[in-house]
Amino acid sequence: MSVIEIRDLHVSVETDQGTKPILKGVNLTINTGETHAIMGPNGSGKSTLAYTIAGHPKYTVDSGSITLDGEDVLSMTVDERARAGLFLAMQYPVEIPGVTVTNFLRTAKTAIDGEAPGIRGWMKDVKGAMENLRMDSSFAARNVNEGFSGGEKKRNEILQLELLKPTFAVLDETDSGLDVDALRVVSEGVNRAKENTGLGVLLITHYTRILRYIKPDFVHVFVNGRVAEEGGPELADRLEEEGYDRFLTETAVS
Ligand code: ADP
Ligand code: MG
Ligand code: MG
Repeated sequence: MSVIEIRDLHVSVETDQGTKPILKGVNLTINTGETHAIMGPNGSGKSTLAYTIAGHPKYTVDSGSITLDGEDVLSMTVDERARAGLFLAMQYPVEIPGVTVTNFLRTAKTAIDGEAPGIRGWMKDVKGAMENLRMDSSFAARNVNEGFSGGEKKRNEILQLELLKPTFAVLDETDSGLDVDALRVVSEGVNRAKENTGLGVLLITHYTRILRYIKPDFVHVFVNGRVAEEGGPELADRLEEEGYDRFLTETAVS
C-alpha cells in the first residue's frame, strides 16, 4: 500500500502582473485503491494542484509538502516522480511533433521501468490497450496528439495510464469534451487500472457526470485554492443539485 500526503500546500505562479498565489493551504491524503474526486469552479486552482504534483516548472511551491510514502515528492524531478509511480493525465494534452504514439509509449515505459520492455509482449500490450479504448490501430503511427480530436487526446492519456501502470493517477478533467460513449470507454479504462493494480486516483472534474462511471470514495470541494468541504459520494449529488454558488458566496463574504 502507498500513500500521497499533501500538507498545507501553498503554490504561486509568475504572471505578467507579478507573483500570483493560487493554492492557499491544500491538505489531502490519498491511499492506493482510493478514488478522490476534486470538484470546483473554474479558476479555483484544480489544474495548478495537478501540475504541482507532476512537477511543472511554472508553479512555485511557497510552503507545505507533498510526500509519497514519506519521500519528498517536491525535491524529485519530473522523471523521478514518474518513476516513483505518479501519473498525470492533463486537462489539455500537448502535441509532440515528430514523436509517434508507439515511440512515445515505449520511451516512457523504458524510462519508468529502467529497461526496455520485451518487444513481443509490449506490442501485444499496446494493441490490447488500444482495442480496450476503441482506438483505431492507425493511431499508433501518428504523432502524439497532432490533429487528434479532444476525445482522442483523452483516450491517448488513458492509453498511457493503462500501459505505464502508475501507482497514483491525477486525471485533470479527463471527462471534458467527451461524448457519452467515449466517457464510458475512458472510465472503463480507469476502472480496469483500479481493479488490476489498485491504482489511487485523484479525479479532477467540474461536472458530476463522470462520477456515475468512476465511483469516488471521497469528494472534496475545491474553492479559491483550498479544500472548502469534504464528504462521501453524496456530496457530489448535492453539488449536482446546488452548484457551487453556496461556496462562492461564502468566499465573497469572508
Ligand atoms: P482550474 O483548473 O480550477 O480551472 P487553474 O489551476 O487552471 O484552475 O487556475 C487557477 C488560477 O490561476 C486562475 O485564475 C488562472 O488564471 C491562474 N493561473 C494558472 N496557471 C497560470 C499561469 N501559468 N499563468 C498565469 N495564471 C495562471
Ligand atoms: Mg479551468
Ligand atoms: Mg483546470
